[in-house]
Amino acid sequence: QGPPSSILPPSRRFLVLLNPFAGTGKASGHFQTHVIPTLTEANATFTLLETERPKQAQELVRDEDLSGWDAIVVMAGDGLLFEVVNGLMERPDWACAIKKPLAVLPGGSGNALAASVSYYSGHKQASGTKLLNNCTFILCKGQPVPLDLVSLTTSSGRRIFSFLSFAWGLISDVDIESERYRFMGSARFSFGTFVRLTALRTYRGRLSYLPARTSPDSTPESDSHRHNLNSSTDTVNPNVLEDSLLVPLNEPVPPHWTTVTEDQFVLVLLLYQSHLGADLFTAPMVQSPGEGVMQLFYATSRISRASLLKLFLGMEKGSHMGESIPHITNVPVTAFRLEPLENVGIMTVDGESIPCCSLQGQIHKGLGRIISI
Ligand code: ADP
Ligand code: MG
Repeated sequence: QGPPSSILPPSRRFLVLLNPFAGTGKASGHFQTHVIPTLTEANATFTLLETERPKQAQELVRDEDLSGWDAIVVMAGDGLLFEVVNGLMERPDWACAIKKPLAVLPGGSGNALAASVSYYSGHKQASGTKLLNNCTFILCKGQPVPLDLVSLTTSSGRRIFSFLSFAWGLISDVDIESERYRFMGSARFSFGTFVRLTALRTYRGRLSYLPARTSPDSTPESDSHRHNLNSSTDTVNPNVLEDSLLVPLNEPVPPHWTTVTEDQFVLVLLLYQSHLGADLFTAPMVQSPGEGVMQLFYATSRISRASLLKLFLGMEKGSHMGESIPHITNVPVTAFRLEPLENVGIMTVDGESIPCCSLQGQIHKGLGRIISI
């Protein structure tokens, strides 16, 4: 892991990946009018690549030589950055590649990391071109700082890397179902939530987690399950990132984990940044992109519609944390496992849908880097 901030060369060279279809489809125009003038003034150079299809950005960062650029800049929603992070982790030289500084410019409808970075940098909550201006300023003036990444493993053996969130139930349903209201921009999430609240569903599953230690000297590694194992039977493969907190999915969770006694949920959310959207200040306790903790939120089926409404209305300003809302729990964790008891509902990772299945994950503190102030 590199130092928290390192000095970039005076003239920065950026690879800009832009999804022209993200959000309301204005990213290309906004890049020309709002971003290029600031980059020029800051003496930065860039190569602009507009994606033509899903997965193109992922394949590009997986296969290309990236040494010509000081940072990879994503102008889209969180979905395109998700591709970039996973593309970097697919490289044979992933351990070095994932240290390439990343930056986000909001151009989609889900701009959670952009909103989080803007918040960490001391800006007031913003959306639209105001948020874009904040993030362009941060890109030009900021330095790379550690970014936590979560490694997820599904029951089919798929490995997924995530910088933002994992959701199941209400939140993932809204994220995917509201795709059809894409023309509304970020308002699609609030609108979709109100639609969903009228037809609440519950999801059956078993949820387990490893609570984060509160003592300042603890690291995720000091919770390692692996330390208790006989090292001769435990061969470490240097070619893949080891999840030291996890045991195989077909084995019971380690005894020092907690399993939630109830098994009917309305929502399960793990969020590792402050914002879940430009105006969803869901985890106000998160103050930097590299704290090494996931914030677990879950609501059991006993929650009322009124409580859920209070939660979503409070989230805009982050005031929901000050109110006690019955049947909503928040725990800081470093690892979790979720086993749906029926394969229903949509799961999302960083806002992108994945098939509903059993899965587990752990945080890797500061594995990546993001340009922030
Ligand atoms: P939004 O926030 O509006 O959802 P994202 O950047 O998250 O915007 O992109 C949404 C999806 O579009 C992602 O799954 C991404 O992989 C995909 N995508 C990227 N480039 C293109 C493209 N040129 N055409 C269609 N889809 C694309
Ligand atoms: Mg998205």
